[in-house]
Amino acid sequence: MKKLFVVALPIGNLKDITQRAKEILNTTHLIICEDTRETKKLLSAYQIKNKQLLSYHKFSKERDFARILKEIEKQNEAVLVSDAGTPAISDPGSFLIRLLLEKFKDEIQIIGVPGPSAVTLALSISGFDCDKFVFLGFAPHKKGRESFFEEVKNEKRTIVFFESKHRVIKTLEKLVDVIPKREVMLARELTKAFEATYRGFPKEVLEILLNDKVLGEFVFVINKTK
Ligand code: SAM
Repeated sequence: MKKLFVVALPIGNLKDITQRAKEILNTTHLIICEDTRETKKLLSAYQIKNKQLLSYHKFSKERDFARILKEIEKQNEAVLVSDAGTPAISDPGSFLIRLLLEKFKDEIQIIGVPGPSAVTLALSISGFDCDKFVFLGFAPHKKGRESFFEEVKNEKRTIVFFESKHRVIKTLEKLVDVIPKREVMLARELTKAFEATYRGFPKEVLEILLNDKVLGEFVFVINKTK
């Protein structure tokens, strides 16, 4: 039986790794990752050496995936990680898992090794009702941006989505327009040195951000409708 360990990594603070994740990274030779330089840096922080790293990302070609499949066929087990957090959450990990399931069918076991994700961490500190929520991935850059905010406007449950530092202000301006009376929590650089959370109605959060540096990684959480 082949095994793919889907291993969550920290989203900033290197101490946020589980013992099991470290053990599996230590004992498995083949590691499939997004950016080999990022993963090498992280592994060396945990003194994990001499691993074979193969990369997968949104620009990977068929031959890259063929190579990964061939290596798993040969070595029988591999670890899948992403640059940060839980693999397959807004990265191409799920595509790779599907390919493996198609190729090896019930000859492969997909084993999850849980850990941090910006999605669940932001929700868990929001103080909003998280009994039910929707995750909308990244707010689209251009195409689909209008319909994205239409979806936000019509969604009654708590919402979480990712945004780039380049568009945080624009997104807040849009939220002032579409959901002026819903509470927002904007989380920046979670688990890192410059971690911050901004809470309030969209206009209040916008005013704070206009007087602050808009740097780092961001997650939005919007409370459900009352
Ligand atoms: N797989 C990751 C996870 O489980 O958290 C998410 C990967 S997605 C490609 C990267 C986005 O997640 C960033 O652009 C940002 O919106 C969010 N993110 C990741 N780490 C974060 C952090 N430490 N603080 C705030 N947002 C973060």
